[in-house]
Amino acid sequence: MSAIDLARAEIRALKPYSSARMEASGGSVLLNANESPWPSVMGGTGALNRYPDPQPVELVKRLAALYGVAPAQVLVARGSDEAIDLLVRAFCRAGRDAVVVSSPTFGMYSVSAGIQDAAVIDVPLRADFSLDVDGLLTRVTERVKLVFVCSPNNPTGNLVPLATIGRLAAALADRALVVVDEAYIEFAGVPSATTLLARNDNVVVLRTLSKAHALAAARVGTLLAHADIVALLRRILPAYPLPAPCVEAALAALTPPALAATRVRVAGLLEARDRLADGLKTFTGAREVFPSSANFLLARCADAQGVYRRLLAAGVVVRDVSHHAVLTDCLRITVGSDEDHRRLLAALGLREEAA
Ligand code: PMP
Repeated sequence: MSAIDLARAEIRALKPYSSARMEASGGSVLLNANESPWPSVMGGTGALNRYPDPQPVELVKRLAALYGVAPAQVLVARGSDEAIDLLVRAFCRAGRDAVVVSSPTFGMYSVSAGIQDAAVIDVPLRADFSLDVDGLLTRVTERVKLVFVCSPNNPTGNLVPLATIGRLAAALADRALVVVDEAYIEFAGVPSATTLLARNDNVVVLRTLSKAHALAAARVGTLLAHADIVALLRRILPAYPLPAPCVEAALAALTPPALAATRVRVAGLLEARDRLADGLKTFTGAREVFPSSANFLLARCADAQGVYRRLLAAGVVVRDVSHHAVLTDCLRITVGSDEDHRRLLAALGLREEAA
C-alpha cells in the first residue's frame, strides 16, 4: 500500500484530457489548436494567441530548485487554493470521505471539502494554539483521507514544529495524507516539511508565490509531493491552468537577483512586524498581541468590533476573525508598509513613531 492508493479509484482510472498543446511535440506550423495565427489586435506585452504550456518546464524547474525537490514532485496550480481543491477532489469520495482540520485555521479547507460533499472533522487547536496530535489521531477513521496542517497557521500565526508533523505523518502512513500548508513559511525562518517527503509518501506540502514573493494577483501556488501524487493530480488539472503573463511574472520573480531582493524584503518586513507589535502593545484597547511567525499579527482586544469600526472609519481595513469560536475578540492585522502602520497607529490614537 502506498499513499496514492488512498485516491479515488475513478480518478486513478481516469483517462485525462489530452490537449492540443500537449500533443504539439515540437512542430513549428501550429494548426492543431484552433488558435489565431496572429497576436491580439490590441497588442500589449507578449503574444497571447497560443495556448500556454499546462506545466511550463522552466517554471517547474525553478520552483523545484527553490523548494529543494525534484521537478517530478512539483505541481503548479492557480494559487494554493486550487491545490487544496484538487487534493479534495482527487482523494475524497463525495458523501463518504472526510478531511480533518484544526480550528481556528484557514477556511478554504472546509470550503473545498463542502464543495466536494466531504465531511469536515474539526479537532480544535489547544488553548495555546498548538496542534492536538493525540486528539487528532483518535479522530482519523477510514473515511479520513486528508489531514490539513497549516504552519504557520492562519490566523493564529504560530508554527507547528516539524517533529510534530513528522510524528503525525508516520502515524498516518497508508491511512491519510498530511497536507502541510506553508503559505507563510518564508516569514518563519524554519525548514520546510519538504524535508519529510523522502521518508513519508503521505506528506504533501503547499507553497505559494502570493505572500513573500508579492505575486498574489498572478495566482501561482505549488504543491510538492511524491511524484506519483503529482502525476495523479496532473490528470485532473484544467487543460491550461496557468496564463502566460502569470508564468512570465513568476519566472521573473524566481531569478537569483529577484530571490535575493525578496529575502532582503522579508527580513525588513520581520523588523516592521516586531515594531508594529510593540506599537500595538501600547494600545490600551489591546489585551494581547500574539507572537507571530507570519506576515500578520493576531491581537486580542477589549472591544474588537469597536476597534474594527474605528479603523474602518479611518480607511484602514483589518481582518475581523471573530467568527472563529475562540477568537471572538480578535483582529488579524497584516504587516504593511511604514506608511500603512503610521495610518493604523494614528487611527488608534497612538504616536506615529511607535511603528
Ligand atoms: N493557505 C493559507 C494558509 C492562506 O492564508 C492562503 C491565502 N490567504 C492560501 C493558502 C491561499 O493562497 P494562494 O494565493 O496561493 O491561493
